[in-house]
Amino acid sequence: MGRLTGKRALVTAAGQGIGRASALAMASEGAQVFATDINAAALDDLIADGIETFVLDARDTDSVNLGMARAQPDVVFNCAGFVHNGTIQEATDDDWDFAFDLNVRSMFRTIRAALPGMVDRGSGSIVNMSSVCSSIVGAPNRFIYGTTKAAVIGMTKSVAIDYVAKGIRCNCICPGTVESPSWHDRVKALGEQIGSYDAAMQQFVSRQPMGRVAKAEEVAALVVYLSADESGFTTGQAHVIDGGWSS
Ligand code: NAD
Repeated sequence: MGRLTGKRALVTAAGQGIGRASALAMASEGAQVFATDINAAALDDLIADGIETFVLDARDTDSVNLGMARAQPDVVFNCAGFVHNGTIQEATDDDWDFAFDLNVRSMFRTIRAALPGMVDRGSGSIVNMSSVCSSIVGAPNRFIYGTTKAAVIGMTKSVAIDYVAKGIRCNCICPGTVESPSWHDRVKALGEQIGSYDAAMQQFVSRQPMGRVAKAEEVAALVVYLSADESGFTTGQAHVIDGGWSS
């Protein structure tokens, strides 16, 4: 028996990075996993692990509603999100709108669509992807990003309090820097900006007192815990996993 045996779990942005690692970890704990992403090709090889895959655009309400109707999930891991670089003076209205739509409103869509089934069954666990860069710490050049991820914490607490008596839990996770394809792109971009890839890498790594960034699998382990009944007494919390960054 796995820790998630008997549960149906839908993951957004499961094509790569933390979403992918979490889909695999949940499947290995016995969940029936629905791994979704906007990029169909990125999902292809998850099928070999017994995972059902389909395209779900977290920015599209119809796509979300169809996906939730298909999966009928007991667990939702809202992982989709994007990191904009820059201060408030570099932020554009378009970047702001895009980030709030993908990082925050997407979760409004998915949670709204998943809740009726969870309420009928009297149980459910929702895990939202926030970041330690949110209301917990400010990170340089993460104005839009940190603002959206703080909103995720507020949404998490709001859903948690409204549904706690219905057997539904809602938590969020707040990682520090995690190795993923988009993180490698951010290191490269910073390296080009400051003229040294190694110096860019050092900037990211030095934020974590542990002297390294996280592996996606380390974050996936927290997602499994929050999805499973063993975490049944925690709801409405922001779970920090940041290598000591905010300590
Ligand atoms: P990533 O950024 O490398 O991959 C993101 C995935 O999202 C891609 O597969 C992409 O196709 C998918 N995607 C993009 N738009 C989508 C949409 N509209 N609908 C569905 N899927 C879409 O992965 P990552 O770095 O592991 O980041 C995943 C989440 O974790 C994000 O919310 C990010 O903000 C958060 N996070 C990441 C880090 C980090 O350092 N990597 C730290 C804290 C939080």
